Amino acid sequence: MTSEDTGRVFDYVIVGAGTAGCVLANRLSENQSNRVCLIEAGSKDSHPFIQVPALVAAAMIKPSIVWGYWSAPQRGLNGRTVPIPRGRVLGGTSSINGMVYIRGNPRDYDDWAAAGNRGWSYQDVLPYFVRSENNEAFNGSPYHGKGGPMNVLSIKRPNPLNAAFWEAMQTLQFRRNDDFNGLDTEGYGPRQGTIKAGRRESATTAFLRPAMSRSSLTVLTKASVTRVVVENRRATGVEIQQDGETRRILARREVILAAGTIGSPHILLLSGIGEGAALQALGIPVQHDLPGVGANYHDHVASAVLMRTSNSTSYGISLKALPRGTWNIFEYLLMRKGPFASNVFESHAFVKTANGLDRPDMQIVFQPARRNQSTFPLPIGHGYNISVVLLYPKSRGRIALSSPDPLEAPIIDPNILGEPEDIEPLVRGLKLARKILAAPAFAPYHGTEFLPGPKVENDEAFKEYLRATTATVFHPAGSCRMGVDDAAVVTPELKVRGVDGLRVADASIFPRLMGGNTNAPVVMVAEKAADMILGRTPPPPVQIARER
Ligand SMILES: Cc1cc2nc3c(=O)[nH]c(=O)nc-3n(C[C@H](O)[C@H](O)[C@H](O)COP(=O)(O)OP(=O)(O)OC[C@H]3O[C@@H](n4cnc5c(N)ncnc54)[C@H](O)[C@@H]3O)c2cc1C
Repeated sequence: MTSEDTGRVFDYVIVGAGTAGCVLANRLSENQSNRVCLIEAGSKDSHPFIQVPALVAAAMIKPSIVWGYWSAPQRGLNGRTVPIPRGRVLGGTSSINGMVYIRGNPRDYDDWAAAGNRGWSYQDVLPYFVRSENNEAFNGSPYHGKGGPMNVLSIKRPNPLNAAFWEAMQTLQFRRNDDFNGLDTEGYGPRQGTIKAGRRESATTAFLRPAMSRSSLTVLTKASVTRVVVENRRATGVEIQQDGETRRILARREVILAAGTIGSPHILLLSGIGEGAALQALGIPVQHDLPGVGANYHDHVASAVLMRTSNSTSYGISLKALPRGTWNIFEYLLMRKGPFASNVFESHAFVKTANGLDRPDMQIVFQPARRNQSTFPLPIGHGYNISVVLLYPKSRGRIALSSPDPLEAPIIDPNILGEPEDIEPLVRGLKLARKILAAPAFAPYHGTEFLPGPKVENDEAFKEYLRATTATVFHPAGSCRMGVDDAAVVTPELKVRGVDGLRVADASIFPRLMGGNTNAPVVMVAEKAADMILGRTPPPPVQIARER
C-alpha cells in the first residue's frame, strides 16, 4: 500500500485511548478546526467492573478489557513469571487501575530536568498537574486544581482499620501527612483517589467523554495499530487492522504514540524503529536504527506481610459480615456511597528505609482486606496487610519483539530484582511492615501473620521470601525514554529521535519512575505534550520556596 491508498486523513493521529491518549484527544480537539483521530485496540468501557471502585481487583483480570500479558521468566524471582495487566479498553489502564491519585516526589521531576530535559522540573510540571485536576478536598492550595476535568477526592468513609494503621505509624514516630501531592511526600495518611460520585474517574470519563461529540474528534475502537508508516524518515500515518481488514489512517501533521509502556515500543519496533540488527534478524526493514527503543523498562515492585483474623472489621466476604455487606450493596445501589464507592487502597505511607536518603524510597501500602491466595478477585474472609513498594528500583529490563507478527505479544522482561541492590531495601521494608502490624493499635483485631509467617526471621529467609513472592504493582515505565543522550528514544519535546512527525507521550517516556503511582504523572505528560504539539506557550513555572 502507499499513502494514496485508502482512508482517511487527519491532522493528528493518536494511537491508544489510554490515560495519555484520552487527555491528548481532548486537548488537541478543543480547536474545532483540527481533525483528530484516536485509535484504540479495545472496545467501550461499559463493564460494571470498571465503574464500581471496589471491584478494582475484578476489573484488572477481566479478559475482555485487559491485554493479559505475562513477563518473561525472571532470573531474580527464581525463574517465576508475573502478570502484567494493562487496560485494553477506552481509558486504557486508567479503566482498570486502583484509582490512587499520587504524583510522586517533586525531586523526581527536578532529576528529569537535571538530566537535560528542559521544561520538566517540578515547577515546570506542577501547572499541568493542577490544570488537569478538580480536587474536592483542597481549596486554595497552590498544589491543587479546581474545575479541571479529572475529579480527585479523599475517601469519605475509610474502613476503621485505617485508623489502627495511622495510630501504629504515629506510635512508631512517623509523621502524619494529609496531602501526599504537596511539596513533602513523606509520612503516613489517607490517600486521594480518582473517583467521582461513587464511580471510577478514568481518563475516558474525565477527558474523552466530554470531547466525544466534537466534530473535530473521531474515535476508532477495536482497531489495532500494526505499524507507523514512515516515508523518507517522516511518519505519514499508521496502518490498522479492524474488522479483519488492513487500512491506513493518514496524518497531515503528526502521529502520536500513546499506546503505553508496552504498546508504544512494540509499535516502534514493528515499524522498523529500534535496534537495527535485531529488526533485520526478524525480517523487518529498518527505518531508523534507534537501539534505546524498548530498553530502560522498569517497574515498581512489591512484596507483602499478610494477616488474617476472625474479626470482621476488614472488607471481606463472610457470614458475620453478610448483613453489613448486604446493606453496603444497597447503600451503593441507592446512594453510590459506602465501601463500594472506595478503591480499598485507602491509606499508605512514604518512608525512608535508610539514613541519608534525600527522599522516601519505600511506599508502605495498607490494605484493610484479606489478600486471597487464589485467583478469586474479591476478599473471602478477613484480614489486613501491608505491601512494601520499592520506589526507585535499580533493575532495568526490556521490551523486545517475539515475532514480526503485530498481533503477537512482545517479550516483556522487567528484570525484577535483577540488581542485588533492590533486595536490601525490600527486606528493610518487610521488617518495618511487621513492626507496624505488631503495634498495639492492631491488638483489638487479633490478626495473625500468615505470610511470610514465623519461619521467616533472618535476612536470608526474607530474601528467599522476596524471590518467591515479589511482583510488580503495575507501574511499568521508561521503554521510550526521554533524554538528550544517544540512547534516548524521544527528545524533551517527546519527538522520536531521527523520525519527523512522530512523538511518544505516555508512561514509556519517563526517564525514571517517580516515587509514587503513575496515572497522574501520565496525565501531566499528556497535558504538557498537547501544549508542545499545538505550539502553545507553556504556563509560567510555579515559584515554590523549598530546601534541597
Ligand atoms: C491493576 C493496575 C492498578 C493500577 N493502579 C494505579 C493506581 O491506583 N494509581 C495510579 O496512579 N496508577 C495505577 N496504575 C498505573 C496507571 O494506571 C498507568 O501507569 C497509566 O494508566 C498508564 O497510562 P498510559 O497512557 O501510559 O497507558 P495505557 O493507559 O495503558 O494506555 C495505552 C492504550 O493503548 C492501547 N493500545 C496499545 N497498543 C495498541 C495498538 N497496537 N493499537 C491500538 N491501541 C493500542 C491500549 O489498549 C490502551 O488503551 C495501575 C495499573 C494497573 C495495571
